[in-house]
Amino acid sequence: MNMKLYNTLTRKVEEFIPYNKDYVTMYTCGPTVYHYAHIGNLRTYIFEDILEKSLNFLGYNVKRCMNITDVGHLSSDSDSGIDKMVKGAIREHKTVEQIAEFYTLEFQKDCQKLNIKWPEIVSKATSNIAFYIEMIEDLLAKGMAYESGGNIYFDTTKLTDYYALTNHIADDLVVGVREGVEKDDFKHNQADFVLWFTKSKFSDQELKWDSPWGLGYPGWHIECSGISIKYLGEYLDIHCGGVDNIFPHHTNEIAQSEAYLNHKWCKYWLHGEHLNDQTGKMSKSKGEFLTVSLLEQKGYDPIVYRFMCLNSHYRKVLTFSYDALDNAKNAYEKLKNKIKSLGNEEIKTTKFINEFKEALSNDLNTSQAITTLYDVLKSDLLDVEKLYLVNQFDKVLSLNLTGQKAQKIDMELENKINVAIAKREEAKKNKDYVLADKIRDELLAEGIILKDTREGTTYEFKEE
Ligand code: AMP
Ligand code: ZN
Repeated sequence: MNMKLYNTLTRKVEEFIPYNKDYVTMYTCGPTVYHYAHIGNLRTYIFEDILEKSLNFLGYNVKRCMNITDVGHLSSDSDSGIDKMVKGAIREHKTVEQIAEFYTLEFQKDCQKLNIKWPEIVSKATSNIAFYIEMIEDLLAKGMAYESGGNIYFDTTKLTDYYALTNHIADDLVVGVREGVEKDDFKHNQADFVLWFTKSKFSDQELKWDSPWGLGYPGWHIECSGISIKYLGEYLDIHCGGVDNIFPHHTNEIAQSEAYLNHKWCKYWLHGEHLNDQTGKMSKSKGEFLTVSLLEQKGYDPIVYRFMCLNSHYRKVLTFSYDALDNAKNAYEKLKNKIKSLGNEEIKTTKFINEFKEALSNDLNTSQAITTLYDVLKSDLLDVEKLYLVNQFDKVLSLNLTGQKAQKIDMELENKINVAIAKREEAKKNKDYVLADKIRDELLAEGIILKDTREGTTYEFKEE
């Protein structure tokens, strides 16, 4: 089944046709690790997780990369104010590296609690400095960038379609971003942005690197272009983030990446809408903000928040309230209880699988996918069939609907293990203990523990 996705670049739901049939490349902007992620940020990561898992479910192989911003993101998106990492270090009397390490780990824990799969490739902004310098040198050589007041800027007037991603509402955007922002007189044009700072007129930076332009540090936008091109290649299928990333971050990424590559770069741009609180967009600068730990302290299973997110479409604003979370909690518990009362065997059915795939392939219609789940439970299928479907669906939804046991009834996996056990029996019979041990170790590496008993070999799953 083909995936259809809403592309911010074309402002249409389009059939998804990746550059390469073998695998889809997907880049997602990662966290700035100067503080805990708030549940708004995590809504975006849940949407990206659903996207990756939906693509897998529909038969695509996905190679996904995410950055960790540990330098260069100033407190305003338009290159001014203090570096967010420095801000965190001052707040907590720690070094920038300590702050980065601590909050990266905390972010990873939040992802685990929400069943968000950690991307295959994760790279820190500070690990790729040499590559950004190479890109910036190339942009300077092509006349797409200039040096002014010690900084290197990208010259946006060199492009004919700089505002393509923003639907050309340039003036509104520039004014929006300029609000409360100190003016940078070194820029030739208002929309130009920093690729490399050496003498920032704004607050000083702790981490600096040698460059052809002197000791300095990269601008925020170059890291995502650099990391994406370095790890996923010159042609990117999908780039994601929250809607606030459309301008200036993603707009600037397109400008510098395509100028560097000399060709079109990313085909599909997907943006998740924000989670608001009662007063508007949830943000860290507001001071108090909601974290996963806070929800846990209040007695909520983080998965309830995931369930709440999946019940609304990723392109719609979602407003957080404890009443809404309580409703999600009740519905989630009822759903789990219904599932608990089902039997424990497996039979394949395809009708509901197709409906579920259809919902996902329709620009990630997760609430429709959940409706299909309810339809399964209401249907006159046998309990065993229902349970099989629930387990299949939960590969994408990741709502812990059947707990650890979910994996055990996966037919494919069961078959695979039984074949391996039979081969091992055969090897043991032939006294080929090296092969027998190899089979056991291979299964162990996948989290399956074999147990030899008098009745034969059984297996169990390693606790996560
Ligand atoms: P940051 O750590 O600030 O770089 O943001 C990480 C991700 O969270 C980005 O993709 C942002 O677009 C996204 N984001 C920021 N605020 C919100 C919000 N209130 N709701 C949903 N996503 C958000
Ligand atoms: Zn980014």
